[in-house]
Amino acid sequence: ILSSSADQKPRILLMGLRRSGKSSIQKVVFHKMSPNETLFLESTNKIVKDDINNSSFVQFQIWDFPGQIDFFDSSFDYDMIFGGCGALIFVIDAQDDYIEALNKLNLTVTKAYKINPNIKFEVFIHKVDGLGDDFKMESQRDIHQRATDDLNDSGYDQIHLSFHLTSIYDHSIFEAFSKVVQKLIPQLPALENLLNILNTNSAIEKSFLFDVVSKIYIATDSTPVDMQSYELCCDMIDVVIDISWIYGVKEEQDSAAFDEQSSSLIKLNNGTVLYLREVNKFLALVCILREDNCDNKGIIDYNFLCFREAIQQVFELRNKSPVSPMTNSIG
Ligand code: GDP
Repeated sequence: ILSSSADQKPRILLMGLRRSGKSSIQKVVFHKMSPNETLFLESTNKIVKDDINNSSFVQFQIWDFPGQIDFFDSSFDYDMIFGGCGALIFVIDAQDDYIEALNKLNLTVTKAYKINPNIKFEVFIHKVDGLGDDFKMESQRDIHQRATDDLNDSGYDQIHLSFHLTSIYDHSIFEAFSKVVQKLIPQLPALENLLNILNTNSAIEKSFLFDVVSKIYIATDSTPVDMQSYELCCDMIDVVIDISWIYGVKEEQDSAAFDEQSSSLIKLNNGTVLYLREVNKFLALVCILREDNCDNKGIIDYNFLCFREAIQQVFELRNKSPVSPMTNSIG
């Protein structure tokens, strides 16, 4: 059912100097590797690592910059690579001297912009777990300043760069990825609206629409996000996936460990409830609500079904055949 939406998936390119942390980010965000294990990741000598992830809502590729590759190498189809990409994430190791990284950033961004001016440029100031708060802010200010100065000097003051402080040792990498992905989803306002309606009608405090595999939230309602709630919901996804893999796997090894009917409810000892439902092959809804408001779960479940229906229409994920063309075009 997802074939029609495959080309609507956000496409992201991850670039940066060797050892800046790209493979670690990929493994931690998309393959559930624990941060400590990345210490033992072997450095690959490949110039282009292609990793289009079919189980995720987000598709992305990784590009290394071993010293010798440059943009005059004709063996790469830059038009295709930059042309089809929604966001370019450039990873800078904040624990290292970043002058060379800034040069590559400038080179990359100007090259990509010439081919595709619609690309969103995102700079991850990475490995900030090793830095104190003051130093963190100072690095961000300095990198921001230098990167924009460089762009102005090369005559590209129209290019906008966004900056994120990230680390694989906390949730900042997931949060940064979430922000990057959200910019690429044209349906975002509609999704936020649906989440607001769901919350109001079901007495839900906060809800996130998650890409299950990566724990990136692709949308949330319009109340502010606090990191703790987000982390709780991430942890819930981990728990549910782990339990489903142990007890819920069907005969075919590759099939998802949960289905349309699956739901999970975790009661915390502070009167809060976490509730998870699957929305489609990639997405799940995770809500936070007061235990008292959970009594009428029938209403929440009914509202959820309406919500899921609406989400499917927003993404046009419906299987086209059983639906008449009329309904489809309205949907
Ligand atoms: P790549 O060459 O860009 O793919 O870099 P790697 O992913 O191989 O990472 C290089 C090293 O940086 C590894 O030893 C990782 O453990 C380490 N690393 C990656 N991300 C972080 C981070 O957020 N914090 C810290 N302290 N180390 C990191």
